[in-house]
Amino acid sequence: MNRVFSALPYREAKNWTRVAVPVRKRLIVLHDMEYPEKPDSAEWCARYFAGLEGPAPKASAHACIDSDSVVQCVPWGQVAWHAPGANQWGVGLEHAGYRSQTPADWRDAFSTATLDNSAWLCAELCALFGIPAEFLDEHELAEQGERATGITTHAKVTLAFKKSDHSDPGLNFPIGDYLRLVARYALDAGGTV
Ligand SMILES: [Zn+2]
Repeated sequence: MNRVFSALPYREAKNWTRVAVPVRKRLIVLHDMEYPEKPDSAEWCARYFAGLEGPAPKASAHACIDSDSVVQCVPWGQVAWHAPGANQWGVGLEHAGYRSQTPADWRDAFSTATLDNSAWLCAELCALFGIPAEFLDEHELAEQGERATGITTHAKVTLAFKKSDHSDPGLNFPIGDYLRLVARYALDAGGTV
């Protein structure tokens, strides 16, 4: 896969909020697409957010990720519509697959490649914004509010701020393995671990 952070494919989403001064993001928010694991799932999701697969949804994310590609959809410092309560400070990453996936599903070849691509991107974003590669649960998000900085999930944002009912990327998302991968890539990205 193309792993040049500054030269990722870009297909702009239809709906997001443009802010005059780009936001120094503090959170990475992990999602799944609720869409099949296919090599063109990232491209499909970007087209979906762009309104090319039907009416554009009132939703967007910064990037869509599958086993062989990352497609950026919203500028990193701008505000995508992915996790109400954390949109302003959060970079949203969409992964091919479903929140109902089993631990084994998340370890299959497709998910392994997808999560590797995601961890690389996440490490680059952590380096860009100075975000620590540490997980934040719903209690930390709620207690720290806008000061909270780290990696979390849509499910944790939902529990912390109660502004949506989404529980992706599901209970079996391998967050421990993911964080270890991000930390490894963070060394290459020159960011904080
Ligand atoms: Zn989500």
